[in-house]
Amino acid sequence: MGFSTTAIHAGNEPDVATGAVTVPIYQTSTYAQEALGKHKGYEYARTQNPTRAALETNIAALEGARFGFAFASGMSATDAVLKLVKAGEHVILGDNTYGGTFRLFSKVLSNYGVEFDLVDTSDASNLEQAFKPNTKMVFVETPTNPIMTVTDLQAVSDIAHAHGAKVVCDNTYMSPYLQRPMEFGVDIVVHSTTKYLNGHSDSVGGFAALNDEKDAEWIGFIQNSVGAILSPFDSFLVLRGTKTLAVRMEAHDKNGRAVANFLTEHPKIQKVYYPGLASHPQHELAKRQQKGFGGMVAFETGSLDNARKVLESVKICTLGESLGGVETLISHPATMTHASVPAEKRESLGITDGLVRISVGIEDLEDIIEDLDQALI
Ligand SMILES: *Cc1c(COP(=O)(O)O)cnc(C)c1O
Repeated sequence: MGFSTTAIHAGNEPDVATGAVTVPIYQTSTYAQEALGKHKGYEYARTQNPTRAALETNIAALEGARFGFAFASGMSATDAVLKLVKAGEHVILGDNTYGGTFRLFSKVLSNYGVEFDLVDTSDASNLEQAFKPNTKMVFVETPTNPIMTVTDLQAVSDIAHAHGAKVVCDNTYMSPYLQRPMEFGVDIVVHSTTKYLNGHSDSVGGFAALNDEKDAEWIGFIQNSVGAILSPFDSFLVLRGTKTLAVRMEAHDKNGRAVANFLTEHPKIQKVYYPGLASHPQHELAKRQQKGFGGMVAFETGSLDNARKVLESVKICTLGESLGGVETLISHPATMTHASVPAEKRESLGITDGLVRISVGIEDLEDIIEDLDQALI
């Protein structure tokens, strides 16, 4: 079955009770039982909810996974996956992951005896020396936020598996339409559904997809035990979002490429970060691993003043955090998403005061370009 057919039909069975074509929002906390121990598979809504179950079937299918779990946020999905790691065990973390992921490791998990080291995974050969006898997991994000560094998922998986470690990939930036990490050996995929999967900037959620039955059993147990579940209404919104994922991602990709090209040719821009550009150091890898390059673009304006001028002069692009919605969002990583990263670390990652990030939306391309053009004068 093709991607869009799966997106529209997986999990989206007509409602058994009424025939409703759209999965209803089962806004209930509990379910009537016919007799002691006799029920329809639903007992209490933290444990099971039909709207959430439909979404879990849907996104698991899109990632090519057997099991899927929907969470209250991307961070709670990542946190649940990290509960596969115990105190005294070690994780290798890509050195340029989402700020919240770094914060979870450095400020929370470190209090519970989970050890971790940061590694620049853009060159997979850096991994080899980072393994310890207690390394259980390698956690990567590709492309990274906001510099768009690409990690070779097949190479990372091969090395990690040779050391008996599992590989987790945060696939939020690409979505399963543009990148399916499990095809390259990745064991677990996590998402912030807040971004492209929902796609309309009106829900916060997360997802974990995987194939291993034992790990899935544990993540399901954590989902129920900790209870960071996605609500029925949010499950409905994301289920509605994934139906158009393919057409939206095609549009984000088309606009993203055009905006990256426009910025590359602009005399006021010193550097553009976008894996779709032939000048990107990992362009060939991105072409191999991704079906497209998506809508995330970062560019260097040279100074905080220049960045501020662009960010405050745009009219159609909205100044704000987050990404992956239909509307174009523009942000300043150094003071917004990456403010908690120490200044030297930011500098070494290329997150300068002049760097601007755009999540290119699916408005008419001419309008986005015209808006950026007038802001760059
Ligand atoms: C937003 C984001 C997250 C966190 O997701 P929330 O839904 O905000 O908790 C994790 N990873 C990446 C790449 C993100 O962009």
